[in-house]
Amino acid sequence: MEGSNETCVYKNQDAPVEARVKDLLSRMTLPEKIGQMTQIERVVTTHPVITDYFIGSVLNGGGSWPFEDAKTSDWADMIDGYQNAALASRLGIPIIYGIDAVHGNNNVYGATIFPHNIGLGATRDADLIRRIGAATALEVRACGAHWAFAPCVAALRDPRWGRSYESYSEDTDIICELSTLVWGLQGEPPKEHPNGYPFLAGRNNVVACAKHFVGDGGTDKGINEGNTIASYEELEKIHLAPYLNCLSQGVSTVMASYSSWNGSKLHSDYFLLTELLKQNLGFKGFVISDWEALERLSEPFGSNYRNCVKISVNAGVDMVMVPFKYEQFIKDLTDLVESGEVKMSRIDDAVERILRVKFVAGLFEHPLTDRSLLGTVGCKEHRELARESVRKSLVLLKNGKNSEKPFLPLDRNAKRILVTGTHADDLGYQCGGWTKAWFGLSGRITIGTTLLDAIKAAVGDKTEVIYEKTPSEETLASVQGFSYAIVAVGETPYAETLGDNSELTIPLNGNDIVTAVAEKIPTLVVLFSGRPLVLDPPVLDKTEGLVAAWLPGTEGQGMSDVIFGDYDFEGNLPVSWFKRVDQLPLTADANLYDPLFPLGFGLNYNSGENSKPVLTSPI
Ligand code: BGC
Repeated sequence: MEGSNETCVYKNQDAPVEARVKDLLSRMTLPEKIGQMTQIERVVTTHPVITDYFIGSVLNGGGSWPFEDAKTSDWADMIDGYQNAALASRLGIPIIYGIDAVHGNNNVYGATIFPHNIGLGATRDADLIRRIGAATALEVRACGAHWAFAPCVAALRDPRWGRSYESYSEDTDIICELSTLVWGLQGEPPKEHPNGYPFLAGRNNVVACAKHFVGDGGTDKGINEGNTIASYEELEKIHLAPYLNCLSQGVSTVMASYSSWNGSKLHSDYFLLTELLKQNLGFKGFVISDWEALERLSEPFGSNYRNCVKISVNAGVDMVMVPFKYEQFIKDLTDLVESGEVKMSRIDDAVERILRVKFVAGLFEHPLTDRSLLGTVGCKEHRELARESVRKSLVLLKNGKNSEKPFLPLDRNAKRILVTGTHADDLGYQCGGWTKAWFGLSGRITIGTTLLDAIKAAVGDKTEVIYEKTPSEETLASVQGFSYAIVAVGETPYAETLGDNSELTIPLNGNDIVTAVAEKIPTLVVLFSGRPLVLDPPVLDKTEGLVAAWLPGTEGQGMSDVIFGDYDFEGNLPVSWFKRVDQLPLTADANLYDPLFPLGFGLNYNSGENSKPVLTSPI
């Protein structure tokens, strides 16, 4: 390792960050610089690869667990191992390890899993989301990672989009208000903090990443990675605005979107990445590409990887989530610099930005995991916070067949109740995608409480709870014995393009299960979904109650808290609920607005109606 602390400004923690950046950059060779711009997947990462290629960052993509039931301490050992390999390189520049902690640290067994963003959008509670960010930061730090690829600040303009649930709302004002996850993850910047300059409060915080820049939620027909057709004014008003809030909180990184704007791939768009984001808005952190996004650049770039590297780096991508073929990336970028097709000044700018974030994040002083944080993963306080979030996220869409006779709150001392449906006792379904596996899973995937567990814990001693995943003929024949039924149906987990869906019906015969039960027993439907779904007329007519529970995560008791009346409903729809898919896209600022339930709709016990005003004004 080079120099002593006295001779190296970059090693002096009391020196100003900019001086440290300049000093370190001046000592770096081209391979060391290009290494910093390279982010590789954990599965191809070995200690020699990190040391020999001066790798700047490692990621564990997709919210997946690295190996079955890996404990938090296993994670910390793994990441510290990589870190030691980085520290052993000539200049000892630490790696920054990134993960998709998008609803809690969903990468680790036993972590607290919060509702997905769509549910948080229903809470309209900026302070709650800030607190979720702070809790998530602790659980991410505990496993040794430094960087969460969150928040997704997409404006959800069409629920056919497979990433709908990663968005807080269709409404830009709501997303802006709820961008406080950045503050929670990174800590609160002081008042005089320069806009656009990266920030991290301390060792209990993690670097945040606003994504996916920009217009990811506005693609035509909701096609993932598709094309957003919009004037600049529309792009700015609907999709760019949340980034301004993130920049004012000192968001340290921004991820480019796979999508295009009027046919121009974001990863190749110099105007948006460099002129707008960096020059006009003053962003001083770094831009990370999306996973293997360079390969996904369309013709004429896509045919030639070297050309994709050239276009993206010149457009303003600073670090490339390669994630596998790092040798090719490094070779091509080196060649491009040597041939003058990528200027050295562009490389220096990218590396300066990366080093700035690493210094600001304190990685040079505290590169290794603080093991005292291990106990924060899935701790009681965080589970309480998740339970509160679930409570606040539920939207009551229907309460009683007529307004005179409300059906909820349910009687917790009823003699016999039926709990049924594909989603009543499935923790994996309750958590959705980005939990344990990228596309999500079914079953007892982690520690948590299903809706059925929560109901059992909430009802009186004398109440008999009968559970059947699919209601049997026999049960339906003996309906007289049941006071009421709770039927849980909904979407099965998915992520990204796997979730693109133009039908939006309730999977696994959800409408039929509900109808069969509701015809015989007074029924509450709890719908688990990442977006509005088609509600067949019998579901709307025959049921007594309907609750949108979104994808609530591990704390099922947040649901029983509300349906049995310990707490009131507070959630308001974060999106417009369409009647038919042929109405899509349908947002509250449309000229012809005829939803089943409008943006902001939500009933409650006290007033019956809890609708908050629609915030968006027409474009
Ligand atoms: C997603 C990003 C994610 C990245 C790393 C990509 O497929 O679009 O949101 O952060 O993978 O897992």
